[in-house]
Amino acid sequence: MSSEIPQFTVNIICPKCSALGVVVWEKDGAQRALVSLSKGFYERLSRKVPYPIELVCHECGTAQAEDDGL
Ligand SMILES: [Zn+2]
Repeated sequence: MSSEIPQFTVNIICPKCSALGVVVWEKDGAQRALVSLSKGFYERLSRKVPYPIELVCHECGTAQAEDDGL
């Protein structure tokens, strides 16, 4: 049985140092979950609602603007 939850891939770029990455999300209604994240970025808990996590550049520590790509 395959998953009923659609996955989608988003290309991300660090707003500060222009590092490139790819993130894969599962989207289930209004919820989304991180499936995979390319090297060069990591996830951490976000202080900004409504998103529980934010994606941060390893090089310079800058977080992505989470409303991009959706
Ligand atoms: Zn960066």
